[in-house]
Amino acid sequence: MYLLLIPVALLAVIVGVNVGWRWVFAPVLAYALLAWLYGSLRALTRPGYDQVDPGSTPEQVKEGERTLFWCEECGTEVLLLFRGTPRAPSHCGQRMHERTEILN
Ligand SMILES: [Zn+2]
Repeated sequence: MYLLLIPVALLAVIVGVNVGWRWVFAPVLAYALLAWLYGSLRALTRPGYDQVDPGSTPEQVKEGERTLFWCEECGTEVLLLFRGTPRAPSHCGQRMHERTEILN
């Protein structure tokens, strides 16, 4: 594999000197951009570590427990009815704080 780099490098120098270096760097740049694009798109198709597994069902919050998420920035409160992921939701660009109350 690495032996193939020697003739490719020689060919690149010949093309770069005779025709112009843009004909050498443009395909390399295009390859780098395409590799980055495919890598980014491939990452979108995989579920993240905090995303809900498609096969699992969200579990209902236990009776006698009341879980609220509140936003420190604006004071918004969200009552949790079903827990699908252990991660807290976001509001105003930051994670909300969890508060669980035990009801009598
Ligand atoms: Zn907020």
